[in-house]
Amino acid sequence: MTRQDTDAAPDTDCDVIVVGAGFAGMYMLHRLRGLGLRALAIEAGSGVGGTWYWNRYPGARCDGESMFYSYKFDDDLQQEWNWTERYARQPEILSYANHVADRFDLRRDIRFSTRVTAATWDDAAMRWSIETDAGDRLSAQHVVLAVGCLSSPIRPRIAGVDDFRGAVYHTGEWPHEGVDFTGLKVGVIGTGSSAIQAIPMIARQAESLTVFQRTPNYVVPAQNRPLDPAEVADMKARYGELRAMAHATRTGNPFDINPQSALAVSEEERNGEYEKRWQIGGLIFMTSFNDLHSNAEANETAAEFVRNKIRGIVDDPATAELLCPHDAFGCKRLCVDTGYYETYNRPNVRLVDVGSTPVERLTPDGLTVAGTEYAFDAIVFATGFDAMTGSILKIDIRGRDGLALRDAWEDGPRAYLGLGVAGFPNLFTITGPQSPSVLTNMIPTIEQHVEWIADCLGWLRDKGVATIEADPAAQESWVDHSNAVAETTLRLSCNSWYVGANVPGKPRVFMPYIAGMPAYRDKCDAVAAAGYEGFRLG
Ligand code: FAD
Ligand code: NAP
Repeated sequence: MTRQDTDAAPDTDCDVIVVGAGFAGMYMLHRLRGLGLRALAIEAGSGVGGTWYWNRYPGARCDGESMFYSYKFDDDLQQEWNWTERYARQPEILSYANHVADRFDLRRDIRFSTRVTAATWDDAAMRWSIETDAGDRLSAQHVVLAVGCLSSPIRPRIAGVDDFRGAVYHTGEWPHEGVDFTGLKVGVIGTGSSAIQAIPMIARQAESLTVFQRTPNYVVPAQNRPLDPAEVADMKARYGELRAMAHATRTGNPFDINPQSALAVSEEERNGEYEKRWQIGGLIFMTSFNDLHSNAEANETAAEFVRNKIRGIVDDPATAELLCPHDAFGCKRLCVDTGYYETYNRPNVRLVDVGSTPVERLTPDGLTVAGTEYAFDAIVFATGFDAMTGSILKIDIRGRDGLALRDAWEDGPRAYLGLGVAGFPNLFTITGPQSPSVLTNMIPTIEQHVEWIADCLGWLRDKGVATIEADPAAQESWVDHSNAVAETTLRLSCNSWYVGANVPGKPRVFMPYIAGMPAYRDKCDAVAAAGYEGFRLG
């Protein structure tokens, strides 16, 4: 008899089941233990770290400053950990995640290599019943989905994928043992952030590299460098102050934000500001002026600055023009590189436009575009993720009266504060849709959600409240507000993953909340202070 065939009694009763053990799930587990709750985390991977466990492609690193792309909830932790580069590489971030797991003894309550497949609300018992691909039947009063916004890799539905005889990789599911491209003919499909980090590294190894670009992206230099121990010591001495500065910004990054309009200054001054930020490097370029996301004319000045940089870096004028984006600047996620544009000056690298004529099919030897066959030993899909909802909807979630979340979100996700969903009691989402999530420095943003949820669960216990559920009217009003704010920006003007455009058939909804962390945090705090206003308590 297998475990599934035993009686219906659950294997384990928990107060809270946390799905996922990336930075969100790990910290959630830690906080739940602090409340004295019986918590279990379930993780599909064989280790902690989430994004940094799965995305092991060459060149993978964060593009937020390491000193700030890290937890701040424990001062001893942030004082003892030493980041070695301005933007840490994937192995270093994964070591950090493992260090956190060791330090807080998290692994004993994480069930690894196990995927949650279903979660069903039992209204009579007022509990969730959880099923996994290992045949577990678990029960919990509350479920926290810490499944990640960028954790459901997608491979485009290109004909003949199974025909190709060479190796096929996806950046988001990279082999743990690494890949040696030495002497190989390699094709990369995609030119988003992952591709932009991987392409320069693969080009150095491969005999030849062909990049298939559907839409060019805006890419600014990282200006990555080793961190000087004296500089780290100085920052650590001022960590509280620096974190507070980052905390006060819309994105949770320690950026110098220029409050001026790009159109309020002369062209010379404007380009001087862009050049200064280009030299500093990284996402700080986004805050060069205050209206780059809201005013098309202002936006175009940043766009043209970057296009001129591309024309200056890439030797072949035709390749340079092909690399020049024409969407609004920053409509898609800004990419941060080390030597991306320079890579196209290498003799072993070529760029193929698949914007006008898509990849037709994979063949036994490679792939075809517009009737031309390109032969490869290996093809890398750098084709991104079913973002924000992909990993949530892969789980068959059934709420009150058997309502399926897939049906409730048929026309796009609807959530109250990105934390709860009407019809799904005692279910929380960390960095869920309609919260700032992917528009911010995500570790501090995760901390804010974890702390809000932990405080809420402590409050419910103290008040003897068994269930909490988003009120439909409060949810509708929040979703309307979230959509209305998005409409004041240029972010809806392109086919980004923020609006689900990269997944065929996905409803076009701007999923994250764009008004910034301070306004969002104030709202969450006010809701809690008012006894969880907008939630129904039972
Ligand atoms: P994840 O790290 O995605 O973890 C979710 C975990 O849940 C995964 O381990 C997954 O296996 C597990 N899971 C999902 N579904 C199930 C299930 N049904 N059952 C069991 N387990 C499940 N953000 C930044 O702010 N700065 C950056 O520089 C940055 N760089 C990034 C680079 C890459 C390559 C990618 C893909 C994303 C990057 N991000 C960055 C976003 C990044 O995802 C977040 O910063 C953060 O790591 C998310 O943590 P998380 O725990 O919420 O989700
Ligand atoms: P992505 O930004 O969605 O990029 C996917 C790329 O694949 C796009 O260029 C897309 O083209 C292309 N593509 C998809 N299907 C295709 C098809 N059928 N034919 C040709 N091209 C196709 O995914 P990602 O690069 O993995 O990044 C996702 C997010 O993860 C980022 O935006 C960022 O938030 C995060 N990330 C961060 C870093 C970092 O620097 N720290 C690194 C990696 C990822 P279109 O643009 O035309 O759709």
